[in-house]
Order: sequence, then C-alpha cells, then structure tokens
Amino acid sequence: MQKLKKWDKVYVIAGKFKGAIFEIEKIKWDKVYWYIEIKKKIKDEDGNEKEVVINNLVKRAVKWYWFIEKKSPIHRSNVMYWCEDCKKPVRVGIKINDKWKKVRYCKKCGKEFI
Ligand SMILES: [Zn+2]
Repeated sequence: MQKLKKWDKVYVIAGKFKGAIFEIEKIKWDKVYWYIEIKKKIKDEDGNEKEVVINNLVKRAVKWYWFIEKKSPIHRSNVMYWCEDCKKPVRVGIKINDKWKKVRYCKKCGKEFI
C-alpha cells in the first residue's frame, strides 16, 4: 500500500515551492524514482487565474528545477500529506482498522484517509 495516492493533497516541504499545497495528479514509477506530478494555480498580471506546472526532477545527487508546460514531477521526499483536520503536513501511517481493512491514517490526529 502506497502512502500517497492520486488526488491526495500534499504540502511541499523542500525546494522552490516550499509551503505550497497541491493535489497529486499522477504517480509514476520510473525505475529508480517516484515522481509526483503537480500543478499550481497562479494569477497573471491581468488577474486571470492560470495553471502552472512545476517540475522538480531529482536524479542521483543532482537536482534540476524548471518549468514546463505539462507533466511536472516532484520527488516524493519533497512532499508530505496535508491533513485537512490538522491543517498541517503530517506523516501517514498504515494500519488495520476495526473493520479489518488496511487503511492510511494521520499519525497526528488519527483520522483515516480513503
Ligand atoms: Zn490529522
């Protein structure tokens, strides 16, 4: 069971976009690394909202950051789950709940995630 899933809200803890909250659009396994694709909504000079995609590619010891139009990976170690109850980035645990189902939960408040 993966700790992060598609459409999870995550908080960026490192890099250029530290402090931003995104939804995971896609998770890809790429031999060595996980990539989490994220988009950020920003306002341009005219006040129009547009989506910018962020690219955070981590390869071995070298890091590159850049913007591209589509597909923007961010390394999974740079994000944490955003708990809506705690309003904080939290660690995700995995447990068997009282219905004998394997679930993910917030290690801070104990809330179970879908
Ligand atoms: Zn929580």
